[in-house]
Amino acid sequence: MSLESLYQEIILDHYKNPRGRGLLEAPLGTAFHVNPTCGDEINMQVSADADGGLLIGYEGTGCSISQASASVLYELVQGLPVAEAEKIRLAFVELMHSQGNAEPDEEVLGDGVAFVGVAKYPARIKCALLAWMALQDAEIKADLVMAAPLDEE
Ligand code: ZN
Repeated sequence: MSLESLYQEIILDHYKNPRGRGLLEAPLGTAFHVNPTCGDEINMQVSADADGGLLIGYEGTGCSISQASASVLYELVQGLPVAEAEKIRLAFVELMHSQGNAEPDEEVLGDGVAFVGVAKYPARIKCALLAWMALQDAEIKADLVMAAPLDEE
């Protein structure tokens, strides 16, 4: 099996068997993001456990890439301290901006490495990033991370 088809299998598996899918009872922050070009929707929720570990809840509809990405997100960051989760989120965003030329670190990105090929297709990058953008938004709403400073003119 080629690496490319292995990666496709990983994405399909997350799509068909989403990890941790479902909403939280008491989220601290919720963000609903849509990708109008593809019709993807993600409702992302965050909370924190007693030790400060992230708790993730999500639901969504849309293409296999968008939904698999949310499942991979859950698998990667659930229970992690927010700072650790942010490192992974930034690594995934960087991967998606690599135009498919990156050699992603499986130690950091786990099944997220399967999305490296998606980064070659500009139309699908938004699909892959949707859940991760919603995560950042939900974390900001929950006061778990600082909002990004506004770009200076
Ligand atoms: Zn999509």
